[in-house]
Amino acid sequence: MIWKLEELAGAEFQCKCGRLHKVPIQRIRMGAGALNYLEQDIPELSLAGKALIVADETTFEVAGRQVEAVLKQAGIALDRVVLHPRHNLQPANWVLPDERSLGEVLLKVPEGSGFLVAVGSGTINDITRFVAHKTHRPFLSVGTAASMDGYASTVAALLTGSFKRTVPAAYPTAIYVDPDILATAPLEMAAAGFGDLLGKSIALADWRLSHIINGEYYCPTIAGIVEQVLSTALKDVKALGSGDPDALLRLTEGLILSGVAILMFGDSRPVSGAEHELAHFWEIRGLAHGRLFYHGDKVAIGTLLMTEMHERVLAMDPDKLAWDRIYRERLSIADYKEMLQRDFAGAWEALYSPNWEQTKKEEIRRQTRDLLIPNWARIQEEVPKSLLKTDEIRSHLATLNLCQSPQELGIQRDWLAASLRSGREMKPHRYTIMDLAAEMGCLDSISQEILESVSS
Ligand SMILES: [Zn+2]
Ligand SMILES: [Zn+2]
Repeated sequence: MIWKLEELAGAEFQCKCGRLHKVPIQRIRMGAGALNYLEQDIPELSLAGKALIVADETTFEVAGRQVEAVLKQAGIALDRVVLHPRHNLQPANWVLPDERSLGEVLLKVPEGSGFLVAVGSGTINDITRFVAHKTHRPFLSVGTAASMDGYASTVAALLTGSFKRTVPAAYPTAIYVDPDILATAPLEMAAAGFGDLLGKSIALADWRLSHIINGEYYCPTIAGIVEQVLSTALKDVKALGSGDPDALLRLTEGLILSGVAILMFGDSRPVSGAEHELAHFWEIRGLAHGRLFYHGDKVAIGTLLMTEMHERVLAMDPDKLAWDRIYRERLSIADYKEMLQRDFAGAWEALYSPNWEQTKKEEIRRQTRDLLIPNWARIQEEVPKSLLKTDEIRSHLATLNLCQSPQELGIQRDWLAASLRSGREMKPHRYTIMDLAAEMGCLDSISQEILESVSS
């Protein structure tokens, strides 16, 4: 079955997994002239009052003016916020989802009724969805680049101080994507979007792994959507590399579908595994060093490293491990916490949650051997289904001019070592291949091998 994005909008169905899945986004318009539907959709979606357009200088020029023209034509009153980059991070021309941007948008939110229109990609959508959530206003999203999978998200990644945190936010009432607008964005943004989708290979593998070992809820329908997103993106690599507008539209479709999978599932489990934990870890270190990266560029490198970790862990034989020694050598909570405080370099306090210790106590006591041995054949068969070969990943990265190693991207060796050691604590409740490696007592040795293989 092929999932069509436009048909999924507003859908609600009883799934064979036993749950009712809902896609609360009411309209998704993809294709040339998509913005013209705003005139018809706004009254149909019961949006009333003044519209506040949120854009940056670039996205205002490529799409914001057009949105304004359509709204004016429809007789809708409007106001605008065009955000500017004002910071000393690199690259210097990026707008940040920080207190300043949030304040600028908040000041302009119309009194009484009204709605917001995000015109942009990741940052503009994060800012708008957060303000929309806090002020109880609906918002529409007009996509300008195929750079990330957050269009349909219900969380916003915001920068407070020099720390990036994920906070609850609103999903858009409708999404509009015109391929002619996407084609104006630099190709490196689409390459990053592809990198984000590449990560789905690990996310799916980690999810299946936890389903088998921990009995975690797994939905084959949602997994099928994510598999479709990944396979479509892989078929399109060459076309994306040459900036083909149809491929760009399919890539954006995949990125939105990935967000739809999050909405259907209720959190990001189906689309975010160990590769995203590493990406978030490097983001924190990058910010502390004044460096910004595209999210998808980091996810792509995370995918490369975690593919290797999956390969190495799955090649082991749990029957032959010295389990008594592994259990004995597990770090105490106090030692482990000390290591995390060091590795997260000041960010640990912000991440730490009160029930963390309980989770870790259970992990230390876990009889992993008994969970693995009866399930190992199934794990070896089912977990790698979505995994790619590392050579294949490298060749895709090369086609899209993406960095092929952490060093090339600017991830320093000490951040890399710390992320492999402690990155699994970015989301302590999300079980990934890094958690299994830790429980099997081989996280450090495999991390060392990965470090050597990427620096050679
Ligand atoms: Zn389901
Ligand atoms: Zn992502």
